Amino acid sequence: MTKDPNTLTCQEFQAQLPELVGSGENVAAHPHLRTCPLCRALLTDLETIAEAARQLFPTQQPKEDLWKRIESAIEKEESSSSQD
Ligand SMILES: [Zn+2]
Repeated sequence: MTKDPNTLTCQEFQAQLPELVGSGENVAAHPHLRTCPLCRALLTDLETIAEAARQLFPTQQPKEDLWKRIESAIEKEESSSSQD
């Protein structure tokens, strides 16, 4: 069964978010964002990261590859900040 995008939980939406952003869709127009300030803020963060990544990796990489770089950068950051 296909889920109505209006009834996505934050968790479900956020699970899709990197894919949505990476696909070049207009994520800001997603129905979930109209009702959820939390995820709007998250998207703003992701876009800031993505923009920074574009400047860090200005070569014409496939978007998928870019997201892998972003994800691994986030993971590194998380693991380095969780280790004291
Ligand atoms: Zn949400």
